Amino acid sequence: MKPARFRYARPGTLDEALGLLADHADDGKLLAGGQSLVPMMNFRLAAPAVIVDIGAVRELHGIEEEGGTVVVRAGTRQRAVETSATVGVACPVVPAALAHVGHLQIRVRGTFGGSLAHADPAAELAAVALALDAELVVRSVRGERRIAATEFFVGPYMTTLELDEILTEVRMPVHTGRAWSFQEVARRRGDFALAGVCAVARNGSVALACFGAASTPRRLPAAESAVAEELVPETIDVAAEAAAAEIDPISDVHADERLRRRLVGELVRRTLTEVLNGRDSDSR
Ligand SMILES: Cc1cc2nc3c(=O)[nH]c(=O)nc-3n(C[C@H](O)[C@H](O)[C@H](O)COP(=O)(O)OP(=O)(O)OC[C@H]3O[C@@H](n4cnc5c(N)ncnc54)[C@H](O)[C@@H]3O)c2cc1C
Repeated sequence: MKPARFRYARPGTLDEALGLLADHADDGKLLAGGQSLVPMMNFRLAAPAVIVDIGAVRELHGIEEEGGTVVVRAGTRQRAVETSATVGVACPVVPAALAHVGHLQIRVRGTFGGSLAHADPAAELAAVALALDAELVVRSVRGERRIAATEFFVGPYMTTLELDEILTEVRMPVHTGRAWSFQEVARRRGDFALAGVCAVARNGSVALACFGAASTPRRLPAAESAVAEELVPETIDVAAEAAAAEIDPISDVHADERLRRRLVGELVRRTLTEVLNGRDSDSR
């Protein structure tokens, strides 16, 4: 199918883009990599009257490290983040997760911020942002605000972004030298995950986030509490059970609620075991 008719704007600066979005908050949509928006428009699930293409906005591109934080600007292509030496050293869980996002062709076009703003419940990057306690910087003509990743995802394809706001950058704490693990189960490589878990060790605790299993990516506080005092095989078993119990899984043609609950429990067990073994690991 073809999309409904729309007008197209390609601003060159962030201020221009913010102005256009403010003028069209009700009937406009940002276009980043187009890997989710364009299929939705072709299926007529979205029919914006105005498209604001942010591909040429230079302020939205680039990666840098500043004082213990990796800053990825929202319009940076997923593949550029995946292959960035800075990100690979400072936040190794990020490229590991990106390797599971669709296929190479998708990641070459798709953007880091677009994935978070789209808020697919099965998005790998959402779980990574949650487990890393990332901070999301958003701008509108009204000013700038910072949103904790844990406050950002509120439902399937729903975030706390206002209609006139642009996600401009994602700020992630450096976790070099800390154990982490990223695992997912998908029917075929490149498919959206039936369930996945991201685990990142902190000072004496482990942050756990799951995706694909419930209506929104989420942290697993009960499972995290189970290993807060001690990370040993016995507490890992308790955490796996707690995770399976605390999620509210979705049921669809790909997997029912029972399977997703079991997958989350098992993936928590596997990721925590890898963290216990001190490995920097992913399931590639
Ligand atoms: C075949 C296929 C397989 C895929 N598999 C996976 C997968 O396994 N895992 C996964 O996570 N994703 C997957 N994707 C989605 C892919 O990662 C997309 O790139 C991503 O979801 C959206 O990023 P984008 O830059 O393409 O955004 P777009 O499609 O351009 O935009 C998506 C939405 O986000 C909004 N938006 C974009 N950028 C911003 C911004 N800076 N500020 C505010 N709002 C913004 C847009 O207005 C739109 O509503 C797949 C896509 C395809 C086509």
